[in-house]
Amino acid sequence: VVRTRFAPSPTGYLHLGGARTALYSWAYARHFGGTFVLRIEDTDVERSTPEAVQAIIEGMQWLGLSHDEGPFYQMQRMDRYREVLAQMLEAGTAYHCYSSKEEVDAMRERFTAAGEKPRYDGTWRPESGKTLPTIPADREPVVRFKNPLDGDVTWNDVVKGPITIGNKELDDLVIARPGGVPTYNFCVAVDDWDMQITHVLRGDDHVNNTPRQINILNAIGAPLPQYGHLPMIHGSDGKKISKRDKGEKVVPVNIMDYPAMGYLPEALLNYLARLGWSHGDDEVFSMQQFCEWFNTDHLTSSPAQFDLEKLAWVNNHYIKQADNTRLAALARPRMEAQGAQFDGAPELADALALMKDRTNTINELADAAMLFYRTPQPDAALMAQHLTDAVKPALAQFAERCATLEWTREALAAMIKEVLAANTIKMPVLAMPLRLLLTGQLQTPAIDAVLVLLGRELVLSRLNAAV
Ligand code: GLU
Repeated sequence: VVRTRFAPSPTGYLHLGGARTALYSWAYARHFGGTFVLRIEDTDVERSTPEAVQAIIEGMQWLGLSHDEGPFYQMQRMDRYREVLAQMLEAGTAYHCYSSKEEVDAMRERFTAAGEKPRYDGTWRPESGKTLPTIPADREPVVRFKNPLDGDVTWNDVVKGPITIGNKELDDLVIARPGGVPTYNFCVAVDDWDMQITHVLRGDDHVNNTPRQINILNAIGAPLPQYGHLPMIHGSDGKKISKRDKGEKVVPVNIMDYPAMGYLPEALLNYLARLGWSHGDDEVFSMQQFCEWFNTDHLTSSPAQFDLEKLAWVNNHYIKQADNTRLAALARPRMEAQGAQFDGAPELADALALMKDRTNTINELADAAMLFYRTPQPDAALMAQHLTDAVKPALAQFAERCATLEWTREALAAMIKEVLAANTIKMPVLAMPLRLLLTGQLQTPAIDAVLVLLGRELVLSRLNAAV
């Protein structure tokens, strides 16, 4: 059985990198018919907030990354951590350390001065035949993990390949602070054990934690999950996206900025899926397809570059495919905010259908569709230029024939041709003033399509008012 987890620390919004980690962990579980666990790592009480938990859950819901178990909260598991701490103290895989902070600082300075890695010197580490110092009065101990002194920690990272760290590099980690408050790496190890996690996919900023977690898991007799550390996501300028200054094209890192900018969740998911993983040349695929394909074989080990233009292209693809009623629901609030008048105007879904091919975001689409939902106010100079005396008779003829014509795109196109021929004028001569009168602007979709959409009544009332 496969069990994966997403384990965010609720200190802010759901980050782009976090969303990709969640996506891969989710898809891996889905691929193998396994279980995807959501775990909230909220032990940093200073920085964790319930709002951040909400924001993360909201982000995952928007993306459609549903968890099968959880959310589990580390703060609600304190009794369990204390239990394991007690077992480790009992088994001798952890020990109480009474060194004061000042003493530990002094040790570290001593090692640094000697040109060595700063570390804890093992004063309180029990060894057979060693006499420990006398316990100082009134001092709360920390609990330290008794890290193996020799040998290596090795794992075969599913992204980075084999990684080996010498135990000499690893300190006797503090696993509980004074008062028995468990620390980060210890909680993660206990959780991964209790939640029977088989595969840990996470950002490669956690690579240094992995040997510590492996040693703890070994000490408590837990099976080891497989680890995969995903490279960071960079902007197209090659810098880490979280570390970019305000520029023209900063990649937003908050997932919920994407719906605000008019991206569809399936577009962002599809794009994130490709950002660190590949399946031949396939660029556009559904999440169902992704879950069928995804395993750890084709994860990329070099940093991925986030390219907003490519995302826009993918978004355009999904907008073209999307159901028009859904697009209308997404576009409507933005249009209402701009004062769109929907009464007596064309069906929004139909208007969007006409314009969606050429727009990259819902926001662009909504803005483009506004032309059908406000009273046309053509610029006077443009009107003078295009509504010439020469074209007025043709326009009048056009309006007259509109009154009785079968209202289809084909019939309208054929009638326009006849009017052009009868007046020996070219298409733009008629179409430009028509566009201005009907929509207030010169750039619109094909004129026959605009006519069909607006409907006979609206077309006639706007034309007759002008001609
Ligand atoms: N809580 C960690 C983070 O938000 C993730 C820990 C993990 O995946 O092991 O970066």
